[in-house]
Amino acid sequence: MQRTPLIAANWKMNGSAALVEEMVEALTALPLTEQAVVVCPPATLLTHFPASCNFALGGQTLSHEISGAFTGELSADLLQEAGARYVIVGHSERRALNGESDELIAAKLARAVAAGLTPILCVGESATERQQEKTQQVLAQQLDAVYASQPELLAKSVIAYEPIWAIGTGESATPEQAQTTHAFIRQHLARYNTQSAVRVKLLYGGSVNADNFAALFRQADIDGALVGGASLKPAEFAQICLAVTKGAKE
Ligand code: PEP
Repeated sequence: MQRTPLIAANWKMNGSAALVEEMVEALTALPLTEQAVVVCPPATLLTHFPASCNFALGGQTLSHEISGAFTGELSADLLQEAGARYVIVGHSERRALNGESDELIAAKLARAVAAGLTPILCVGESATERQQEKTQQVLAQQLDAVYASQPELLAKSVIAYEPIWAIGTGESATPEQAQTTHAFIRQHLARYNTQSAVRVKLLYGGSVNADNFAALFRQADIDGALVGGASLKPAEFAQICLAVTKGAKE
């Protein structure tokens, strides 16, 4: 079974119209395979991207509601109208800073899929949880909360393993640590559906840069990356993207 790679950029609350232009210029120069890259800028910048470019766009979160009196929220339909095809769901910053529960994340993921967006579900353990050897328990709980009651959504999802201790710290997981955890995730997902578990793209996220990505991507169960800080540097991000242009992973 071959899985096509995916590199996702998470700009968080950063960027500008000028950065959009620089990123479009940097990525347009690349021979990107179809659907290899998705850029998730702040929602207000989505419409600054040209209507047709050689990469996809995504949102960073969405409401689980369809529409209505939810001041400040963004619906799946609004994201789609602004050009998004993907949406990040359950990023650890939203879990921690916005109090997003596993239940809410499950509802958001369902809403995204119902509206035709591909969710990028983020899961990952804290440093303490890793030290206490609770990584697998935490990941299993985060995955079960979403897929145990709606296993059919796995086939429509991308999953990003993002150890919290590696996000924005400059301390990436080693390729071996990441592979071990990705293998566990894929094995756990097989409980819901064996075919979907083999097919689902698993991205690694946490201090990915142009220097460490190739070794991570060589791992059997790592199908790409979710990139934060380095995705704000168009030349470096383009280098990361270039590493996956060679096509599918065995
Ligand atoms: C992220 O926030 O999703 C992320 C992976 O950030 P960074 O690459 O900066 O660690």
